[in-house]
Amino acid sequence: MDIRKVIFWRDNWRSPPPLTTAPFLPEAHTSGWPWWLPRLAFVLFIAAVITLLALSRQAEHDEQRATLISDILWLEQNLSFQFVRNEEQLSRIPPQAARQASTFDPYARSLLDNGSGMRAVLWLGTDGAVGQSLPATGDLRTKDDAYRLANSLGRAVYGAPYQVGDGWWFKVEVPVYQDGALAGMAVGVYSLSRLLESSIPWWLAERYRVVIADSTGKPLAARSKVEAPLSDDSYELALDPPGYGLSIQAYPYRQPSPLTGQLLSGSLIALALLVLWSLWALRRHVQRRLAAEHALRQEYAFRQAMGDSLQTGLRARDLTGRIVYVNPAFCAMVGWSAEELVGRSPPMPYWVVEELDATRALHDSILAGKGPEHGFEIRFKRRNGEIFPALIHEAPLIDALGKQTGWMSSIIDISKQKRAEELARQQEERLQATSRLITMGEMASSLAHELSQPLAAITAYNAGCLNQLASGSSETSEIEDALRKSADQARRAGRIIRRIYEFVRRAEPKSEPCNVHALVEEVVALVENDARRNGIHIQTHIEAALPEISGDRILLGQVLLNLIRNAIDAEREVTSERRRIEIDVQRDGGYVLVRVFDHGCGIAEGIASRLFEPFFTTKAEGMGMGLNICRSVIEGHHGRLWFEGQPTGGTVFSLRLPIDSP
Ligand code: ADP
Repeated sequence: MDIRKVIFWRDNWRSPPPLTTAPFLPEAHTSGWPWWLPRLAFVLFIAAVITLLALSRQAEHDEQRATLISDILWLEQNLSFQFVRNEEQLSRIPPQAARQASTFDPYARSLLDNGSGMRAVLWLGTDGAVGQSLPATGDLRTKDDAYRLANSLGRAVYGAPYQVGDGWWFKVEVPVYQDGALAGMAVGVYSLSRLLESSIPWWLAERYRVVIADSTGKPLAARSKVEAPLSDDSYELALDPPGYGLSIQAYPYRQPSPLTGQLLSGSLIALALLVLWSLWALRRHVQRRLAAEHALRQEYAFRQAMGDSLQTGLRARDLTGRIVYVNPAFCAMVGWSAEELVGRSPPMPYWVVEELDATRALHDSILAGKGPEHGFEIRFKRRNGEIFPALIHEAPLIDALGKQTGWMSSIIDISKQKRAEELARQQEERLQATSRLITMGEMASSLAHELSQPLAAITAYNAGCLNQLASGSSETSEIEDALRKSADQARRAGRIIRRIYEFVRRAEPKSEPCNVHALVEEVVALVENDARRNGIHIQTHIEAALPEISGDRILLGQVLLNLIRNAIDAEREVTSERRRIEIDVQRDGGYVLVRVFDHGCGIAEGIASRLFEPFFTTKAEGMGMGLNICRSVIEGHHGRLWFEGQPTGGTVFSLRLPIDSP
């Protein structure tokens, strides 16, 4: 792992927070109580503002209505006073004054001029005829119901309204008595429109449109400002007197809202909008922060997971050499927990006590930036006291600002690797020893086998010569012939020795391209004589175009040799017609499979499990090392050696060797 340059994403990585909680989502947090509380407060605030505005409008409306009612009541009262006053004044007209216009008119004029609302004043005689009239008007019904009623009741009586031209009029008839007898009837004629004009002061006219309507609601007279719009509100009061279903109605003009109210409403709405905007801005801000935090956490979790899942130990130290971070792999390696290691300064608990000085010197040179560039090996101690070799690479630790804040190390426990190397070395040594053993054994046994025949021949020729000489025969030609043949046998013995020596001399185990086909044929050629002597026929079936394997052809040849020799030995004990050995070589997937079939005595069940044991033999002169060594050699080539019984009797020994040796 290349950690030449390690950049941490945050400065304060010394004590990373444990990620016990799952990374949160912004949505989840915006639904927690800190979020619904301001929302609720805002909704309540808006509700309060709306209520306040509604209440304020309602109060304003109520106040306007109260003013309207009191104004209309005041108007109605004013009219009542006016009517009563007019009745009073009408009743005061002396009957003598009503006899002539010159005396009547001043009374009448004073009544008409003082804003009484009357259009005309009349005097009716006891016969009901118009005595006086100001102004003169002919459009009057006299001696009507009102006249009779007033006369009979002895008090003022109002008549029903009637239309004159565009306007509507009504009259009041007031009986005037003299000496207890009716002297005449003073009549005041009101015009509804003039009545409204005279009785409604300007300030009232500014506020309301005042209408006098009949019992059906039809307006008979009105006073209004033409240009002003009306509000929906209105108030109606019965106009009695004169009665007859007349009513007085007031329609307020639409008033602009008071400035303070407008200001209040406006500022409340502005405030609400401000609160809404600030809440929205706050929400956006917090959401951005949460998203950033979320991304940061995920990034951190990812890096943490990377650090945690690494098989390589990681250790960070600050510039003073104090440990500031260790990953779980390092903790597992040395046996101390992160809590125990973080914050520790040298000497570290995992330093080997006997090598403290050297370790300290190395530590100081690393901190000084003079550590080994390409990593180094060191021995560390586990908590249980076990010492293990570690491979360390150091790299400067750079923070986000590009400043070095310490040193980062990757630590690999190479004890297994070392053990494997040691094992491989031992295996190699064993293989070499085995090889030597086989070489010597095979050389001895081959020599014994191969030399026995020429030696026996030499002995026989020698004995023949001696016999000839002892018998005094002078047939030198026979002796010469015997000696030549003896010399031939001796030369043959020499060739055998050379050949065997040639075969075994390359005793070093090698890994070289090895043609199995050629190897089998070479070995078969070596044992063929021996086999033939025992009446055994060797048959080979070798698949064409077999790939080469990689291995030591001398050792592999010796394995084959041993298997064939064992097969020959086994067939010695059976009848001659069964004496046949088949060697079958073929490709089997990624392997080459070599099988040696014999039809010999077979392997008894009781000894099958012991064949590969060293020194196990059933032969009188056997060493019992052959199969044991063979298996070592095959396994040394990453192959397998095994045997099976043949159904027809005999045994098949199989060996499988990988084509691509690892
Ligand atoms: P050795 O040949 O010196 O006895 P080996 O390890 O080669 O040692 O063989 C061990 C024993 O396995 C032999 O003594 C023999 O009993 C048995 N054996 C090996 N090969 C065969 C075979 N092809 N048929 C029957 N028995 C066998």
